[in-house]
Amino acid sequence: MGKNKSSKNKLIIISNRLPVTVSRKKNQIIIKESPGGLATGLRSLKQKKKVLFIGWPGYIPRNSREKKYIQECLINDHQCYPVFLSRPELEKYYYGFSNRTIWPLFHYFSSLSTFEELEWKSYQKVNQKFLHIIMETAEPDNTFWVHDYHLMLLPELIRKVFPESSIGFFLHIPFPSSEIFRILPWRTEILEGLLGADLIGFHTYEYARHFLSSSLRLLGYEHEFGSISINNRIVRVDNFPMGIDVEKNNRLLADPEVQRETEHCRKLLGEENKIILSVDRLDYSKGIPQRLKAFELFLSKNREWHEKTTYIMLCVPSRTKVSHYRLLKEEIDRLVGKINGRFGTASWTPVNYIYRSRPFKKLISLYSAADIALVTPVRDGMNLVAKEYVAAKKDHNGVLILSGTAGSAEELGEALIVNIHNKNEVVDAIKKALTMPQQEKISRMKIMRKRIMEYDIKHWTQSFIKSIEETKNIQASREHRKLNQHGKTEILSQYKKSKKRLLLFDYDGTLISFSKKPEDARPDKELKRLLISLSKKTNNHVVIISGRDRNTMEQWLGDINCSLVAEHGSWLKILPKGEWERQVSIPFQWKYRIMPILKNYESRVPGSFVEEKEFGLAWHYRNTSPELGKMRSHELYDNLNEFLANTSLQLMHGKKVIEVRIAGINKGVSADHFLRMKDWDFILALGDDWTDEDLFKALPEGAFSIKIGYGPTEAGFYIESPTACRALLRELSKS
Ligand code: UDP
Repeated sequence: MGKNKSSKNKLIIISNRLPVTVSRKKNQIIIKESPGGLATGLRSLKQKKKVLFIGWPGYIPRNSREKKYIQECLINDHQCYPVFLSRPELEKYYYGFSNRTIWPLFHYFSSLSTFEELEWKSYQKVNQKFLHIIMETAEPDNTFWVHDYHLMLLPELIRKVFPESSIGFFLHIPFPSSEIFRILPWRTEILEGLLGADLIGFHTYEYARHFLSSSLRLLGYEHEFGSISINNRIVRVDNFPMGIDVEKNNRLLADPEVQRETEHCRKLLGEENKIILSVDRLDYSKGIPQRLKAFELFLSKNREWHEKTTYIMLCVPSRTKVSHYRLLKEEIDRLVGKINGRFGTASWTPVNYIYRSRPFKKLISLYSAADIALVTPVRDGMNLVAKEYVAAKKDHNGVLILSGTAGSAEELGEALIVNIHNKNEVVDAIKKALTMPQQEKISRMKIMRKRIMEYDIKHWTQSFIKSIEETKNIQASREHRKLNQHGKTEILSQYKKSKKRLLLFDYDGTLISFSKKPEDARPDKELKRLLISLSKKTNNHVVIISGRDRNTMEQWLGDINCSLVAEHGSWLKILPKGEWERQVSIPFQWKYRIMPILKNYESRVPGSFVEEKEFGLAWHYRNTSPELGKMRSHELYDNLNEFLANTSLQLMHGKKVIEVRIAGINKGVSADHFLRMKDWDFILALGDDWTDEDLFKALPEGAFSIKIGYGPTEAGFYIESPTACRALLRELSKS
């Protein structure tokens, strides 16, 4: 396969299926374009980007000659790079892991999920196979957009070979609650696979929330407004509700053939007859048996609607090789037979059941003809049928009944929202739809239609691609502030040149990594050696500024010739005097009022504990279940905030800690003591927490400030970890 060299503007779309279908008829290979919504949406990008597709062509070649021929045709005529899959791969990767493990689990049918090691292995192998084609086709700086649940390992695989590339991933099915997701034996591998992307998109806010919660609970990744920092990379998680092809919709609605077909359908069923329509792939997630049972109940309860309403049920055959699907088909056949046998007459068939796929042109005639669309999946990632129905209602004369568990319900709130497991609710909704006043129908439909026309497939595609670019820009601006060799050289050369140096270091998370128990984070030998070496130099004044209590600071660092700041500045030990001085004189009766509140949280949140300092109280939640700890910390913060209003106390939310202390004490104020001491010609401040932001803000111009870890900061530079920070100190101490 020839490499297609190109610029940064190459967009590579990777999905299980290519937007073409290859088949063989009378010894001839036939290639037919089968563009879905995505391919249409991408057309709007084509002026700006060269778009290539990678995926399975839907055909297993008979021999290598045929394979080569197909490959050439697809690449040259369709910009499609095929990934050929063998029969065993299809069985294990596609029918197996993708459709017998992931599909049911992600749609909350956990009891239908099978967990077969061999199928998982095949899933891994096929994701690797896709990677090989990518490596033969793409350049390291291309943009990759990976689609759906078949390829969830691919973002990480691409990241490993092309670390600088832009990678987006979109999941077209629901992402389940973390309680369901954690059932999957390979949950961490799947999460890590996905987190290789720069941007992970879902149809709804709920799915994105579930993903973030799984990443936190299973891998410990916190997020800030949907952005997760992993090492020095940002992964953005967001929702992008997929839209429909509005242009095609409008074109077909204006087509006389479609209009004739609509009229024909209405006439056939009788002008007075109300048409209820459903269109689904035959899948257990679509709730077809439940819907039939609800329709049966409707007919038994509402005899006045007999012979006046017909339910057209279009089911498209799907995954017929999976046994659950075959059983489902049998159940549906039986139910349809039962209803028609029970209620049908010589002139009326209540359920008009069509079991085959129809071209979209036929479908849109049906949508136009139908008075009601009954879209009631048990669970559905989005459900485009609901949107297509609304779009086809140019005259706004129709009612949509929609499950609240379909992703599209997030945008189609004006539909009659139902729970398919509540038969009576569905029966009532059908009745309400049949008798709805014209004005109400129009006003509901108008709002939905306007929204769907605006947020169409082009909008979806463009906003996803734009969002990948934005993520990369944030990344680049971060990179720009990352302390690189040039920055280090600058700091070192200034350091060497200067004679009066002030070095202000935070302790936890800066000089040393966090430990599970705060008492375990004592300075190691190397740190002590470094601090001694730096503070020994006559030109240096080293200050360690911490939120820790005075005793611990004295015990751990008291033998070093440096100044110490404890409890964020409540106590100072300033060289050369070297005696601890209290900076606050307020009575501390307040502690007895705050302590019970914190103790209450200590007992409610396992793993959390209260630390009592001389002038402060802190509730630590580093060792709690991440979600519970986070939730309770916000709750405690809000409670205390109210409680402390109009007092001389202040509340601080640091890294996994909430602290109450005297107002007016912070690292910035304490740094000021030292900043005023001399006319320093070199100042360096290091810190990791937002309490260090006060310190950074207090620094004069020309001072160097470095934040350890990523996140918004006033500091001039970032450095990724305490280890990297240690390396910098080593260089300083050597020079
Ligand atoms: N569709 C079609 N012909 C049919 C039945 C369905 O072209 O006979 C199309 C329909 O227009 C819709 C898609 O199949 O665009 C079904 O998408 P949806 O999101 O509703 O369900 P999915 O099958 O993806 O789970």
